[in-house]
Amino acid sequence: MKGVDGYLNACGHFRTGILTSAITGVLLDKLVNNEPLPLDITPFLADRFEVKAEAQVKALELA
Ligand SMILES: Cc1cc2nc3c(=O)[nH]c(=O)nc-3n(C[C@H](O)[C@H](O)[C@H](O)COP(=O)(O)OP(=O)(O)OC[C@H]3O[C@@H](n4cnc5c(N)ncnc54)[C@H](O)[C@@H]3O)c2cc1C
Repeated sequence: MKGVDGYLNACGHFRTGILTSAITGVLLDKLVNNEPLPLDITPFLADRFEVKAEAQVKALELA
């Protein structure tokens, strides 16, 4: 997680947490062992909300 070195958070699966548990396990294994990931996880990172919040603040400043 951004800003907290070594902290990994695998949650927020909503109604697909059982279905996606296997790929979540694979991704966590790769992250823990600093190995390349089989897919881009950027859209799922917690800081995506930060980017959205920054955009909203900018939009408010322009208004
Ligand atoms: C009604 C419903 C239907 C669903 N149907 C499906 C489905 O068909 N297919 C599918 O893929 N997914 C489904 N899901 C989603 C799936 O159940 C969840 O995504 C999955 O269980 C999440 O697993 P988890 O281990 O991350 O969290 P959880 O299963 O929520 O486990 C978290 C555990 O941590 C414990 N805990 C919380 N806080 C603390 C604390 N402070 N200290 C100690 N322990 C704590 C909780 O008691 C719980 O046992 C459904 C969910 C619901 C609610």
